[in-house]
Amino acid sequence: MKNIWVIADVPEHAYELLSKVATDADQVTAFVNGDESVASECFAYGAKIVKLLPIRENAMWELYAKEVANEGEKVQPELILVAATRRGKTLAAQVAAILDIPCVTESKSLNLEGGKVVAKRTIFGGLAEKELEVTSQSVVVTVAPGIFEKQKVDNPASGEIITVEASATNAVVIERKEKEASTVNLSQANVVIGVGRGFGKQENLKYAEELASILEGEIGCTRPVTEDLNWYPEERYIGISGVVIKPKLYLAAGISGQIQHVYGIRDSKTIVAVDKNENAPIFKFADYYIVGDIEEVLSEIIHALK
Ligand SMILES: Cc1cc2nc3c(=O)[nH]c(=O)nc-3n(C[C@H](O)[C@H](O)[C@H](O)COP(=O)(O)OP(=O)(O)OC[C@H]3O[C@@H](n4cnc5c(N)ncnc54)[C@H](O)[C@@H]3O)c2cc1C
Repeated sequence: MKNIWVIADVPEHAYELLSKVATDADQVTAFVNGDESVASECFAYGAKIVKLLPIRENAMWELYAKEVANEGEKVQPELILVAATRRGKTLAAQVAAILDIPCVTESKSLNLEGGKVVAKRTIFGGLAEKELEVTSQSVVVTVAPGIFEKQKVDNPASGEIITVEASATNAVVIERKEKEASTVNLSQANVVIGVGRGFGKQENLKYAEELASILEGEIGCTRPVTEDLNWYPEERYIGISGVVIKPKLYLAAGISGQIQHVYGIRDSKTIVAVDKNENAPIFKFADYYIVGDIEEVLSEIIHALK
């Protein structure tokens, strides 16, 4: 390949992506948020040119999309690799849209053999993986941080450092608020009691809470329990768009077992499920299951444990 670009708002992610592609193109250019020390680290990981995109106060990094795309128009890099942070994803989509080229999101692996871009990504909420071979001349690919390992090159370039000015924008940050600190750490819990919509009413949560207390576990739940019913805060919902857990015991109660939820529990050591529907999909993923009503079954378990 002639040109590969690496774009990252977090310097560490730029170093990972550079390490992956350092030897795959004549020209590897890094676009990073940072100062000259960040630029010199980029050279150490294989960049030949470094363009600094410093975030101005009260501005958003993705506003550089226009500048990056303008340059992309001239250079036409075969591959624009973007670290898939929140800011990175927004910038990647904008750059791809302005340049009218495809964007492969959240790749888990990348093969550039023979100058072809072949990317793998998860589909169907984690149920399967898809391999995509890019046929366009240029492509934007986003890669989640931590996929590639950092590795310095033997003979780093002492190339050019260019600071890019962002154009004016109508969108500015007017206030920043700290996110409330999380009080639960589900990913560390040995036992998690999963609450699903099948609890029916809020007063039934007492069964899950008593069980959690006896087993010294934590309460987790499905997304609708958080988002539709507001029974528990967001930090407790498990799944592809929530928390991923690996407890010794996961007890799912009143949870049908949709793949978006199962994605977050499938590495649990032992899965026990309780559901009144004998065909509930969760049973396919469970080591043990009980067909029955939550109130009845959980009361029995609590009684037995006591
Ligand atoms: C893009 C996308 C992302 C998503 N991400 C997530 C995610 O990260 N996490 C997540 O959890 N969901 C996620 N979802 C939602 C997911 O698809 C399901 O809708 C959700 O997991 C279902 O929650 P549930 O099992 O609590 O409810 P339901 O599917 O309604 O299941 C309720 C279960 O309770 C049983 N039941 C009812 N009454 C009783 C009773 N008295 N006793 C015993 N059993 C009873 C029923 O038989 C049923 O099996 C996502 C959806 C989309 C589209």
